Amino acid sequence: MKLQSKFPSLGTTIFSKISTMANQYNALNLGQGFPDFSPSPYLLEKAHAHTQAGANQYAPMSGAAPLRCAIQSLHRDFYQAEIDADQEITVTSGATEAIFCAISAVVHPGDEVIVFDPSYDSYIPNIELNGGVPVRINLNEDFEIPWGKVKESISAKTRCIIINSPHNPSGALLKTEELDLLWDMVKDTNIVIISDEVYQHLIFDNKTHVSPFNDERFRDRTFAISSFGKTFHVTGWKVGYCVAAPNLTQEFRKVHQYITYCTPANLQLAIADMLDNKRDEVRGLSAFYQQKRDLFQDLIKDSKFKLLPCSGSYFQLVDYSELDDCDDLEFCEKLIKEHGLAAIPISVFYDTPPAQKVIRFCFAKEDETLLQAKEKLAKL
Ligand code: PMP
Ligand code: GLN
Repeated sequence: MKLQSKFPSLGTTIFSKISTMANQYNALNLGQGFPDFSPSPYLLEKAHAHTQAGANQYAPMSGAAPLRCAIQSLHRDFYQAEIDADQEITVTSGATEAIFCAISAVVHPGDEVIVFDPSYDSYIPNIELNGGVPVRINLNEDFEIPWGKVKESISAKTRCIIINSPHNPSGALLKTEELDLLWDMVKDTNIVIISDEVYQHLIFDNKTHVSPFNDERFRDRTFAISSFGKTFHVTGWKVGYCVAAPNLTQEFRKVHQYITYCTPANLQLAIADMLDNKRDEVRGLSAFYQQKRDLFQDLIKDSKFKLLPCSGSYFQLVDYSELDDCDDLEFCEKLIKEHGLAAIPISVFYDTPPAQKVIRFCFAKEDETLLQAKEKLAKL
């Protein structure tokens, strides 16, 4: 029997590779993005209580009603905007599932999808699996979108543009005025926007989250995707959601119903309780992670790593060109094997990586872990 691979040149995701290697060498893992501290005890109690109370069967396909209502209320609270809990919110198994459903709902074979590199690593395989053609545009040196190039790249075949703010891996943010530029390019087209906003509550220095979904002009053409994994420090729970206008949501659910159908009911209900009764944790998240960013920056500012700006997410990019000449993959391997510290190379998120020597650290860690990282870095 010979299986013809659908992805002959695709390897294993970098997150898996680096975490496996970090475990193998017992390295401190500042690679894959996940917190090393516990979520709120209230959230854990609620998960236990809902499990004991019998929330162990299929949840409704679109998401448990209390969670959809809590998301509606959160959105009203944060963005002073209304979303219909029945027709515009779908709970998914992580943002990963939501991204796949949104892409699958709109991309037909031969359609072009504009993606900005460095791009989150599931976008491209998801587009290709649907027969779409990724049109990859490198962000500029400051990880901003080169809008002139976007305009040149739009064709009659462009079906969709994927944006991601706060951006993984750079922590860069979309600015309000950029929405005007985007609007000029898409207003007379049927181009759909997929907006990956999983770090929407992790924004620093009093900046604000900018989403096309919250701009009336884009309201009927945007899928906005988020993840409670980031918001409540439970990446392993894989509870995410997508908000989109009813006609888009209808198409989205046609895919979602046959991918996972639903997401664990006990976890959805626990998250709904968190949103209803502990919303201050969401409000405090930016300050919480800003302290961690500042600590991490402070710890490595005297090293030979050069810090790049970080306005959101829980990632810090650093330039290592003063330390080594090798490529970023090799540098990350050396870091793990010789110094017991794991980071993520960013060239893997590009089709055509620029000449840069940059790696990504995740600072969603106990202060103690960040201090241990400093000690390891000091020896470099
Ligand atoms: N998009 C981005 C930009 C991410 O960083 C991640 C992972 N953390 C995801 C999507 C996937 O989120 P989830 O773990 O909820 O599937
Ligand atoms: N989003 C996480 C990161 O960027 C990893 C998610 C995953 O491992 N699939 O590190």
